[in-house]
Amino acid sequence: MKQTMKAVVYKEKGVVQLEDRPVPVIQEAEDAIIRVTRSSICSSDLHIKHGSVPRAKENTILGHEFVGVVEEVGSGVKHFQKGDRVSVNVETFCGTCFFCRQGYVNNCEKGGWELGCRIDGGQAEYVRVPMADQGLTKIPDDVSDEAALFNGDILATGYWAASIAELKPADTVVVLGAGPTGLCTLMSIRLYSPAKVIVVDISDDRLALAEEKGLADITINSLKVNAEEEILRLTGGRGADRVFEVAGGKETFQLAWKAARPNAIVVLVALYEEAQSLPLHMMYGKNLTFKTGGVDANSCEDIMKMVQNGKIDTSCLITHRAPLNDVMEGYRIFENKLDGVIKWVITPYEDRD
Ligand SMILES: [Zn+2]
Ligand SMILES: [Zn+2]
Repeated sequence: MKQTMKAVVYKEKGVVQLEDRPVPVIQEAEDAIIRVTRSSICSSDLHIKHGSVPRAKENTILGHEFVGVVEEVGSGVKHFQKGDRVSVNVETFCGTCFFCRQGYVNNCEKGGWELGCRIDGGQAEYVRVPMADQGLTKIPDDVSDEAALFNGDILATGYWAASIAELKPADTVVVLGAGPTGLCTLMSIRLYSPAKVIVVDISDDRLALAEEKGLADITINSLKVNAEEEILRLTGGRGADRVFEVAGGKETFQLAWKAARPNAIVVLVALYEEAQSLPLHMMYGKNLTFKTGGVDANSCEDIMKMVQNGKIDTSCLITHRAPLNDVMEGYRIFENKLDGVIKWVITPYEDRD
């Protein structure tokens, strides 16, 4: 194996660059080294770049959504071996602490969101995955790397958000944001067959995609119509039974509680870049239940089953695909939402002599 590799490094607020880094080695018995075959750029990477993720550490390799092949395992890894194709969980967790035992792996006393945030992540040629028996999921032979790419992060997030929303078949559901995580949330919500799904975004293209894929029954472009009024009109003046806020803006945060009917559940899936305020005096009597992120990515085996059996298909998210060589162009396109991008997929580095 070679000694150095290419990797995308978060240098400091505002600065992300492609660098040469040493190829990672096994440090603990529970580690695995993964050769990355596909990774992606996530909006959380941009939040780190913007300096709005307090737990992120400078000089860390970014990337927390990736799949690959096991190159090497430590002596304590029981369930994986060299050559296994795997998807990697955004969260690093022990599986045995107080929080892990209840499924709250995001709050693992020994981990949480570490990869591509506090320890080196997957926008690289190789990555070290600690506590690999928990953090890896085998990809079945009939599932492609790209089909499993989003399982460990945005799809895990959507799946988790739908699972905590206490959805019922007759529900009217509002989803704010039809970006990558919004679409994954919609795919997961559909597993519960709610009666009516209303999707709000500011991009006609994204709304059209949600409609075309059967994820949205009704779409609202909030730049063109007053979304709050429209949602109230569509719900007999009551508001929605369940609201998912996946856009992460100040206005969508406010719309989330305004669009909810009294006694609704509002799931805040987004990662906010700044503090939001809940005007409790205006909400008095609405008796809302708020559930907030981040994701407990504890269902990756189940998600893989849904993907393998065609119940969830995320292929429509992939709009761009290029080698690691071109990743900074990917950041530019993704950050500025250019060229109709939904997901920028990073393929392995190419020697271009
Ligand atoms: Zn992410
Ligand atoms: Zn734990």
